[in-house]
Amino acid sequence: MKILILGAGYAGLTVAHRIREFSNAEITVISRSKTVRENTIFPLLLTNEVKIEDTEFNAEEALRVKNIDFVEGEVTEILPQTREVKTTKGTFDYDYLFIALGGAYEENFEKIPGHEFAFMHHTLEGFLGLKKALESAEDGVRILVGNARNSPIEGPSYQVALISEYILRKRGIKGEVYLVTQSPKGVFGILQNDKIAEKANGYFQRRGIKVIKGTYVKEIKKNKVILGNDQEIETDVISVLPTLSAPEVVIKAGLTDDSGFVPVKLPYFLHSDRIYALGDLAKGMIPAKTARSAMISAENAVTHFLHLGREYYSQGVLCIMEAGDDSGILRFDKGKEGIKVLLDFNRNYILIKKIYSKLLVNSAFNVPYHASLTV
Ligand SMILES: Cc1cc2nc3c(=O)[nH]c(=O)nc-3n(C[C@H](O)[C@H](O)[C@H](O)COP(=O)(O)OP(=O)(O)OC[C@H]3O[C@@H](n4cnc5c(N)ncnc54)[C@H](O)[C@@H]3O)c2cc1C
Repeated sequence: MKILILGAGYAGLTVAHRIREFSNAEITVISRSKTVRENTIFPLLLTNEVKIEDTEFNAEEALRVKNIDFVEGEVTEILPQTREVKTTKGTFDYDYLFIALGGAYEENFEKIPGHEFAFMHHTLEGFLGLKKALESAEDGVRILVGNARNSPIEGPSYQVALISEYILRKRGIKGEVYLVTQSPKGVFGILQNDKIAEKANGYFQRRGIKVIKGTYVKEIKKNKVILGNDQEIETDVISVLPTLSAPEVVIKAGLTDDSGFVPVKLPYFLHSDRIYALGDLAKGMIPAKTARSAMISAENAVTHFLHLGREYYSQGVLCIMEAGDDSGILRFDKGKEGIKVLLDFNRNYILIKKIYSKLLVNSAFNVPYHASLTV
């Protein structure tokens, strides 16, 4: 049996590890680069708490010891009718396909008018550019962090806003930090839990961050941002996350619906007879697109694929916020065990995040426990 996995991110590598744990099938992983980065820790690059090399590992080496083939190439076409995938390294056929190519961050960022005047706090390049701008900012600097309309992940924006405030404070620079949140209830308003939103917004207020609620970044000009409510804000440093969809190569294969994501049967992420769609590109149980959800989608897919008889995980939100000289945690999980909600701020969460990140890097994303509830 030939198993093809597209994408060596959180979801793709979790599938590879887990199938190998239970089966001797022929497994091939195809991904753009053998150097894989644990991007949830990227905000700590801004404060030098981690170095670039702490965030990366070689996926080819990690898979070779498990007798899993790794092909470093670009996926150019997915052909479900003929069960083939075309890549820059040739055409591959499959019996079962796991598509885990992530969300189309770059493609959607480029659709934001004036994106060339902003950083995107997703890629390594985006973080390094932002770091330089924060380190050279001068008195009177105005920093704006936000998301484009319908962007499904605001947690990184919260972290970047908090860290920006910290860097200015540490450097003794006077300036303004604006955070734009899509929910009218502000930070974590999307969770529809008033106590959480109140506590979170209070924290950002105490940190001196100006939260602009209920809108989004519509357009960027040199030194100016135009928001969805047509408010214009003069700015010097802008960092934005775009809306998301599945990558173009997945859309072109006819696998997505009107949402831009791949519809799947939940909780096991089966798209069609022989295709599972995982992680950021799948229409999951919740709108938020996170690494934890990506790994959970992979665990559930393998449980179904190999008939493991294990319980299925539910996807929730678990966000450790890196906040400069402080940090916080937000947990919102719903499962058959009930609802677990937690928001807390404590400097020690940074340490937990660093340890967890190290675990992800050292194991090439082979982390079997996701602190999740079951469906
Ligand atoms: C700054 C930041 C902080 C974050 N913090 C958190 C957090 O604290 N907790 C959390 O759970 N989530 C967090 N996230 C979200 C998380 O990083 C994503 O949800 C996660 O990466 C999605 O995993 P994935 O496996 O779906 O895709 P990815 O990890 O993006 O993997 C996709 C892989 O496919 C490859 N690929 C894509 N297209 C092609 C192609 N055409 N050909 C070949 N290869 C291709 C890519 O190179 C990549 O290796 C954060 C994100 C950012 C940007």
